[in-house]
Amino acid sequence: MTESLIPTGLSVYQFAGFQPGPKLIILGAVHGNETCGTEALQRLNREIDSGEVTINKGTLTILPITNPLAYQFQRRHGDRNLNRNMSRSDEPRDFEDRVCNVLCPLLEQHDVLLDLHSFQAPGIPFALIGAPNNEGEIEPIARAEQEEVMAMSLGVNRFVEGWLDTYAQGVQDRKARGVDARVDYGVGTTETMRRSGGIAVTLECGQHDDETAPQTAYTAIRNTLAHLEMTSDDKPEVVSHPEVIRLYRVIDRLHPDDVFTKQWLSFEKIDQGAVIARRHDGTQLVSDRDGWIVFPNNNAQVNQEWFYLAAQSNRLD
Ligand SMILES: [Zn+2]
Repeated sequence: MTESLIPTGLSVYQFAGFQPGPKLIILGAVHGNETCGTEALQRLNREIDSGEVTINKGTLTILPITNPLAYQFQRRHGDRNLNRNMSRSDEPRDFEDRVCNVLCPLLEQHDVLLDLHSFQAPGIPFALIGAPNNEGEIEPIARAEQEEVMAMSLGVNRFVEGWLDTYAQGVQDRKARGVDARVDYGVGTTETMRRSGGIAVTLECGQHDDETAPQTAYTAIRNTLAHLEMTSDDKPEVVSHPEVIRLYRVIDRLHPDDVFTKQWLSFEKIDQGAVIARRHDGTQLVSDRDGWIVFPNNNAQVNQEWFYLAAQSNRLD
């Protein structure tokens, strides 16, 4: 690829209401092949321009394409995963480092983040929320209730929590095996936002090519704007019977011949005692409780996340 085709910046659109209010930032295509957010944000952009939608309060910032290199390739990464190891660098080494140098300060200027994604395997949309209020080291947060209400206003019914501390535990396991690993590698857009005192929700809008995913993303955008009273729309209803799933364990692939016992779907229910996979030496990996298998990855590389285990949570009851 020639130098001239590598994007040299990001397109950032901003709309400011005359009344003071929240500073909301919405991202699409943090992963380049996840374009439902891009479509939804481009639609919103047109509708604001035409006057069909008006922002009365606060500031709305949108990035329909947050990783333009990955978007151009129609794949998850440009040089690397933008949604990991997110920090500023004095000497950017790859394309995503350059994006981070623009994106991190931008996130810190906002109070609320909605990050729009899609996923590989078939399944229903879900929102990823952060930890409950805590002062711990991994993911301190003081505004968890606001984050929960925002998530429950998006229009989806499934919620997943526990990502960062489960990831951190996985990194500890990796270190215990003598593999070089950093906890900060688990820091993406939402973690960056929470670290600067904001609230953040990642919405997984459906399968990458699901025709309804752009509409799911669009509904979530309009609901968020209405929830924050930035438009004159009625406040969206908060879901009454949320399904909350807590990730509690991540298991790495350790050998190329480690195999699943079947083709698992993400969020497939598993009973305690179910044999999920076999290591290359024959060791069985067995579920320690009733729950779900989440994000099983047949293509996981050695020493990378292979699958997550999850259990029911009463967090939003
Ligand atoms: Zn994604």
